[in-house]
Amino acid sequence: MGIAIALTGGALLLRALQIVSSDSLGAKRYGVEDANVLFVAAAATYVALTALIRWKAHAQREASPALVRTQLVADAVAVHVCAVMLTPPSQYDRTLIISMFLVQFSQLYFGWRTTLFMLGSVAVSFTTIVMMAARSGMLNGPTEALWTFCLFAAGSLAYAWMLGHQGVRMKRLTHLFDRAREGDFDQPYEDGRDKFPDYITQIGRAYNDLRGHLETIILTDPLSGCFNRRGFKQMAAREVSRGIRAKWRVAVLALDVDHFKRINDEFGHLTGDEAIKEIGELIREIARAGDVVARLGGEEFSILAPDTDEVGARHLSDRILAAFRSRSFTSVRGQMPISISIGIASDEATVDDVVRVLTARADEALYVAKRNGRDQGVLWQTGMRAFDTGSSRLSREMERMP
Ligand code: GH3
Ligand code: MG
Ligand code: MG
Repeated sequence: MGIAIALTGGALLLRALQIVSSDSLGAKRYGVEDANVLFVAAAATYVALTALIRWKAHAQREASPALVRTQLVADAVAVHVCAVMLTPPSQYDRTLIISMFLVQFSQLYFGWRTTLFMLGSVAVSFTTIVMMAARSGMLNGPTEALWTFCLFAAGSLAYAWMLGHQGVRMKRLTHLFDRAREGDFDQPYEDGRDKFPDYITQIGRAYNDLRGHLETIILTDPLSGCFNRRGFKQMAAREVSRGIRAKWRVAVLALDVDHFKRINDEFGHLTGDEAIKEIGELIREIARAGDVVARLGGEEFSILAPDTDEVGARHLSDRILAAFRSRSFTSVRGQMPISISIGIASDEATVDDVVRVLTARADEALYVAKRNGRDQGVLWQTGMRAFDTGSSRLSREMERMP
């Protein structure tokens, strides 16, 4: 109802204004009076069609390609109907200024296919009015106008290509930010691929600067400097997929500090925290560069050692035990020895969840090490059962990892 009133009101206003130009093609063909009526009818149809398309898009909760294209054809036709009614044919190339925006908006919001469709609609509409004007003797041959159109088409295609190219690069950046939200900072923004560095390159470089910093914050445990659960899970997934390709064995070591409560009880929690920091540093010092050292909770650590069999894992465990025995921990002012128990498990990396399985085994072996008197490493063996029921605590924690 409201739209109908607005349309009728608008139509009457346009008629009253006698908007059609007397030296236009419309006026020459139909006479000024009839051309005014036709123009008003065309304007009303355009407004009604646009309202209908908007209503449909709203009802469907999306603008389908068919709706978008109908609107674009309507826009192209509307621009050229205006030209036919409002301007002399010598000024038809002005429509191309407006059409330039229509083509670029199509590229910006709907991509290449729609852009080419829009360009096609403009080509048909423009050529039609030029030919009509030429036939009515109001244009000295259509050649000049058609050359102008060719220049317009080349210019708008070049600009649309540039916009499309920027869109692709923006998508690359968005993809990187999406991955970063998942905690994956593997890929940097490769600014070497940008032939002409611009503001997108600058955002990419800023992302690269931030990347290292964010990775540290999100994947690292601030107290011990080791990876946190998320970091461990991510690094483990990466190492396992490498291991599957290379047919490696991987080892998991589960470590738990012995009688840690005593440190808290004797020196207080702050000293306990300092001890965790020192212990984390020591374990990282002993581990190889490619090993993934993580603090999964409290005073419990885990090491994933890629390309490592039982013998190698046992060596690593022995090195850690020896380092703890010989170290005088400054956090407890050298007044208390700190020892650690280690559960060891190794297997071929054949399936993606090998780390979950090995963590459960290493966890069982760790508790056997505790039961056997602590300060030792125990290798998991088939049939070893440290728990009566269900899966172990650490492996359950692994499953809960984000
Ligand atoms: P066990 O040899 O059996 O491992 O003895 P434990 O005393 O180390 O016992 P358990 O591993 O079960 O408990 C660890 C204790 O470590 C519990 C808690 O008081 C302490 N703890 C856990 N997380 C932190 C932490 O972030 N900071 C401090 N200061 N203490 C912690
Ligand atoms: Mg403990
Ligand atoms: Mg513990």
